[in-house]
Amino acid sequence: MELYKQQHIKIYNSLSGEKDDFTPINPGYIGMYVCGPTVYSNVHLGNVRTFMSFDVIFRYLKHLGYKVRYVRNITDAGHLENDADVGEDRIAKKARLEEIEPMEVVQRYTVDFHNILNTFNFLPPSIEPTATGHIIEQIELIKTIIDNGFAYEVNGSVYFDVHKYNKTNNYGILSKRKLEDLIHNTRELDGQSDKKNPQDFALWKKAEPTHIMRWPSPWSDGFPGWHLECTAMSTKYLGEHFDIHGGGMDLKFPHHECEIAQNQAAKGNTPVNYWMHANMLIMNGKKMAKSTGNFILPTEIFSGNNPHITKAYTPSVARFFMLQAHYRSILDFTNDGLLASEKGYNRLMEAVSQLDDLKTADTSSLKIEAWQQKCYDAMNDDFNTPILIANLFEGVKYINQIKEGTETISEKDLDTFKKSINAFIFDILGLKNDKSISSSGTDKLTGAVELLIKLRQEARANKDFALSDKIRNELAEAGIQLNDGKEGTTFSTQ
Ligand SMILES: [Zn+2]
Repeated sequence: MELYKQQHIKIYNSLSGEKDDFTPINPGYIGMYVCGPTVYSNVHLGNVRTFMSFDVIFRYLKHLGYKVRYVRNITDAGHLENDADVGEDRIAKKARLEEIEPMEVVQRYTVDFHNILNTFNFLPPSIEPTATGHIIEQIELIKTIIDNGFAYEVNGSVYFDVHKYNKTNNYGILSKRKLEDLIHNTRELDGQSDKKNPQDFALWKKAEPTHIMRWPSPWSDGFPGWHLECTAMSTKYLGEHFDIHGGGMDLKFPHHECEIAQNQAAKGNTPVNYWMHANMLIMNGKKMAKSTGNFILPTEIFSGNNPHITKAYTPSVARFFMLQAHYRSILDFTNDGLLASEKGYNRLMEAVSQLDDLKTADTSSLKIEAWQQKCYDAMNDDFNTPILIANLFEGVKYINQIKEGTETISEKDLDTFKKSINAFIFDILGLKNDKSISSSGTDKLTGAVELLIKLRQEARANKDFALSDKIRNELAEAGIQLNDGKEGTTFSTQ
C-alpha cells in the first residue's frame, strides 16, 4: 500500500490562514507550481532557501508514493525593475549594461542557477518552462481576459482592470488586503501611465523602439507582463485547477494575488487549493543586501571567501543548517549557526556510518515503529523539518545506546530503523555524506592524522597539555575534528 494512504498531511495554506488537511484533486497525483528565478543575476541565498523548502516538500511527497508533477518556471522576460509596471525589464537592463544579448544574460544566470542548485543536491523539477517559450499562450490568455471584460488596451499596452474585477470578485483574497486600503495608500498617477487606476497591472507592454525583447501581438510589438507567465504556464502544464502553488513570501502580493485574478478573470476558476509561502532569509539579524555589505553568495559559503564566515562549509552542512529552521520561520544566517550545524551534521553522519555495525538481539527494548511514526508526524505537520531533525538525533541516541548495550534491537526493527534513517536523511532532507564524496587521498590523510593522534596521546601522557591542545586546535582549523571516546580518539572531516 502506498505510504500516502497511511500518512495524513496538513499544509499551512496562505489562502485560509490555517493548517488545512491536504487532499489532492486526483487521488495519488499532485500538481505543484513554484515561481522560479528571474535570471538576470547570480541566484540569491534567500531564493536558494525558498527553492530548498519546495525541494524537500517535493521529495517528501514523492517518498509517500504520490506521482508529483512539479513545475518551476524560469522568468527570462517581462519582469520589470518595479512592481508598478515601470522601469526597465531586468534582463534587458543587464544586457544593456554588459553590452551583450539579453539571451546571453539569460543563459549565463540560468546555468549559474542550475549549478548552485545541483551543488546543494536539489532534484530537478518535472518541467522547467520559460516565459519566452510561452508567448503564444500568454497572448491567448490576454485575449480571453479582454473578451471577458476584465482588461483594456491603451496605446498598444493591455492592463488588467482591478477595480472592475473587484466588483464581482475579491482582489486581496490571498494577501488579505482590501482594495479600498490599496487605493488609499497609492500615490496619484503622475500622468506618465496609461492605466485607468494605479492598482491595475500590465498584461502586455508595448516595447520602446530600442527594446530588443519584443514579440508581435494584436495590440503592439511588445512583451508580456510578469504576472501573466505563471498563469499561462501553470494552466498549460497543471490545468486550470491544481493542488499546490508555492513561492517566496515576497511574491504573495502582488504577484500571486494577480495570478489568482488572471485565472478567475479568464476561466472563472480559483486556480489553486493550497498556497504555500516560504519565509525570508536574513543575515546576522539584518536584511541581506549587496549595498550594505551584509551579503553572501552561495559559492562563497563553499569557498569560505567572505568576511561574514570564518571557514568554508560543505553544501550539505549549509543545507542542513537551512533545514533546521521551519520554512515558514525567518532564517538568520550566521557563522555561529553554521558552526553548530556542522557539528550536528557530523554527529549525524558519524552515527549513520555505524548503523551497519550494530548488533541485533532477540527482542527490541526500543520502540522503533513509534519513533518512525514520530518522524512522519513531523513532516506531516506542514513539513516540519526542525522537528524531524530532532527526531533523527533521537535516533542517533538509539544508535549509541545499542552500541553501548544499554538498549537492544531486533533484526526486523534494525532493518526498519536503517531504512527510515536513510530515507529521511538522504532521500527526504536531501543531505549527502560529503565526507565520503571528497575522500580522494583519504588513506594518506588517515595515516597522517593517526600519527598526530598518537603524538597527542604521548603529549597527554607526559602532561604536556599545551602541545596536545595545539595539535587538536590546529587540526580543527584545518577542518579535522578529533573526537575523544571510550575506545580512544577518532577523527572526522568535512
Ligand atoms: Zn510566478
